[in-house]
Amino acid sequence: MNENCVFCSIVKGDIPSFKIYEDELVLAFLDINPFSRAHALVVPKKHSAGLLDTDDDTLAAVVARVKKVAARIRETVKCDGFNILQNNGAAAGQTVGHLHFHIVPRYGSGPVEFVSGSGDMQELAKLAEEIRFGG
Ligand code: AMP
Ligand code: ZN
Repeated sequence: MNENCVFCSIVKGDIPSFKIYEDELVLAFLDINPFSRAHALVVPKKHSAGLLDTDDDTLAAVVARVKKVAARIRETVKCDGFNILQNNGAAAGQTVGHLHFHIVPRYGSGPVEFVSGSGDMQELAKLAEEIRFGG
């Protein structure tokens, strides 16, 4: 737990999130400034800054959850493909210093861009409910 970390606060429940998956090791929730519909983030509950700071066992577990959550998103929103994105360092566009994998669904054959939108909170809440496991 890192006191100044927004994702640690989300894991702890101090900041609300549009949660779609949780187990003992990871949490997945919708990105509030999505690149596309149902853009999600998968984070380990244990704080680490990025890929190179994360122990291999945790990393393997997180990637397995990325696969599981991506499958669920694809099944729910019927996207045509998806990108997995994982930024390390400010120069790479990392803005939150807690390891996270983006799952970015893609629809149709438009350009593959990573441009943040402003999430509609009602729409995100509805979408999270649809995607959430067991929901
Ligand atoms: P990165 O640029 O790889 O560090 O990605 C951080 C992502 O976290 C961005 O896409 C943000 O929109 C997203 N983000 C930041 N704060 C929150 C939050 N409270 N809930 C959901 N997503 C967030
Ligand atoms: Zn953290």
